[in-house]
Parts: sequence; C-alpha cells; structure tokens
Amino acid sequence: MSDKSIEEQISYLLFLFHYYFDLRKVYSEALEFCLNMQILTEHTISERYIMFCNLHPHFIQHTFRSMYGLAPVAHGQFDTSKRIQLDDPGEVDVKKVLQNIHRNCDYSVSLWQFFAIQSLEEMLYLEFMEMMKRGIRVKRCALCDRDYVLADRRKRDYCDRPYKGKRTCKQIGAKQKFNLS
Ligand SMILES: [Zn+2]
Repeated sequence: MSDKSIEEQISYLLFLFHYYFDLRKVYSEALEFCLNMQILTEHTISERYIMFCNLHPHFIQHTFRSMYGLAPVAHGQFDTSKRIQLDDPGEVDVKKVLQNIHRNCDYSVSLWQFFAIQSLEEMLYLEFMEMMKRGIRVKRCALCDRDYVLADRRKRDYCDRPYKGKRTCKQIGAKQKFNLS
C-alpha cells in the first residue's frame, strides 16, 4: 500500500467504502425480504428467497471459498487438534480418524461442523443461509428502527439493544406505551 500514491490510496479506500456499503445494503435487503415477518406475509420463506434472488441474480452465483470441517467435541471442549479437514475428502479416512478419536478420549464424543471463514462477505452469506435454514425470523424494532432476531413466538415490538443510555429499547418502549395509554 505504501508504494501507492495518495490518489491511488484514496481511490482504493473509496472502493472499499462502496464495496462494504453495498454489501450491507444487499444483506439488510435480504433479511427484510426473506425473514421479516411483517411484510410479504402471504408468501413462504422459499418463495421469498426466490423473489429476492430474481432481484439480485449475482446472489445465487456466490462461491464459497471458506474451509469446512468436522471436529470432535468432548466434554464441551472443541478439540481443533483433532479436527477432520474436508477440503480434500479423498485424502481423509474419516472412519479411521473417528476410531482414533474414540480410542484417545475418556468422554463421549460428538461431532460439530465448523467453518474457517475467509472474508466478511462469506460470513454474512453463511449466517444468512443458516438463518434461512433454521427458519429464524426478524422484526423491525418500533423504537430504534433496526432489525432484530425473534427468539421465540411471543409477540414483541422492541429489541434488546441499549437505547440512548443504559436502558434498552424494550424497557423504554414498554414505558412509552404505558404512558401513552
Ligand atoms: Zn431497538
């Protein structure tokens, strides 16, 4: 970067700014379009995803470069030293690896899948696709106007973020509602 002129550095920064700005825009639109339960209520999540992809054709062409693997979890500990690399499945004898893990371990072992994320873009993509898969819904906070994840089916209008100080949107929102009524 240091061998570049000031103009080149500035244009690179501008490029990055626009890149991340657009990235944020696409994903907040994806959340809104596919997972916000206040709009498009007559469509299923799959229908909404297809509609979103029609608006953003490059979204389906996303190539995922991040590494994917399996790791044994024993006694609540994620043991990365025994992880099973799946970048080249042909080279890994999964059965043998699992036998070795069981032999060396005093506890019962379960397998967790994990990703070694390479970029912010991939993290957003993975997170969004996981939300779709798990049927997670989002809602727009009635106070701060930002999206939040609905943890359960209970009816709520505010998020848990702090709002202008220590108290959260939920606390302030409930009080405002009470005062209004
Ligand atoms: Zn809020």
